[in-house]
Amino acid sequence: MEQDLPPRALAVYLHIPFCLSRCGYCSFFSQPYSKSALDAYLRFLHREIDLFAVQDPDLLNARTIYFGGGTPSLLEAEDIIALCRRFRITSGAEITLEINPLQITEPHLEKLRQTPVNRLSIGLQSMDDSELALLDRRHRSGQIPPRIALCRSFGYNNISLDLIYGLPGSDVSGLKENLRRFVTLEPEHISAYLLTLEADSELARKIGSGLVPPLPDEDEQAAQYDALCAGLQAGGYGHYEISNFCRPGKASRHNLSYWKSEPYLGLGASASGWLPPFRYTDPADLDAYYKQLDAGKILPGAEKCSTEQQKADFLMMGLRLVAGVDRYEYQSRFGTDLYAEKQSRIDKLVSLGLLESDQNSLRLSPEAFFVSNSVIGELL
Ligand code: SF4
Repeated sequence: MEQDLPPRALAVYLHIPFCLSRCGYCSFFSQPYSKSALDAYLRFLHREIDLFAVQDPDLLNARTIYFGGGTPSLLEAEDIIALCRRFRITSGAEITLEINPLQITEPHLEKLRQTPVNRLSIGLQSMDDSELALLDRRHRSGQIPPRIALCRSFGYNNISLDLIYGLPGSDVSGLKENLRRFVTLEPEHISAYLLTLEADSELARKIGSGLVPPLPDEDEQAAQYDALCAGLQAGGYGHYEISNFCRPGKASRHNLSYWKSEPYLGLGASASGWLPPFRYTDPADLDAYYKQLDAGKILPGAEKCSTEQQKADFLMMGLRLVAGVDRYEYQSRFGTDLYAEKQSRIDKLVSLGLLESDQNSLRLSPEAFFVSNSVIGELL
């Protein structure tokens, strides 16, 4: 499966939209799991890959593959192997599987080890049992250390843990304790996200009816974000993206493709892709997804992005990186000078202490990370 390839290999995202049960805070596209529903879905996923291969066989050159969901760890090892075999995978490729903590068992890992997956992203979310209950997660914190040890014993040396902060009724001191327990687990990578709720989510309804305390206000959320950055950096994790932290050399190579606006192929219901100059999103609806593929169609509703849109996307995504955007990369992609184009806005945001710039790069100041969307909006 692995080959040396020219650099034109893509990041590939495969969406597996099935879960054993619905978490009350979730707004991702996912359906109740059954083996027959997943098998039917996989047939369509392979069909989508077939159609892309007809469009351009080079689209199946992969340098990263990311199985996301949903709960992609519901896939059998044979399913993962069959999907990976569809791609010409560069040597040393990063292949990530999001995994439910409860599926980290010896028999499961024994099978998983036969697949090319070499990075695990564990949906841990919290090491506080009351928070896990609030989030409808079925695992409990005491189960986690032995399961991570089990992953290590099977040779997984690139593990990412998800953490959600800003939960109802949470505070900085609780978060600090949670962070301490995350750091003790010694993952290579931590993704930390502020809880945001869709109004129609089960957890939002519980908050509305007073069964659950409200979400922290914005000042408390900002204080938690500061504690998060400080706690993880003190624990030896480099802050490389607004919400992502890692040990040296362990940044998510797949997600870096998104932040650097590099092309990626998205496959599966609700998956998005970026094949310059086209952006597309597959339907977040299984029937519509199947119908589209039955009709032999890919790139549904693909939008051809103008150069101006591409520049805006490049800045929006790139400024999420702590290192910021490279002025010369911008010049080589778009043939124009970022500083000349945005000089007055850059000057204003630098004077407000929200942006930092030097000859080579433009980046958010650490004070601007938590309010990045509005600062980037000002720049655009
Ligand atoms: S496991 Fe993940 S995708 Fe599935 S319902 Fe829970 S949060 Fe949503």
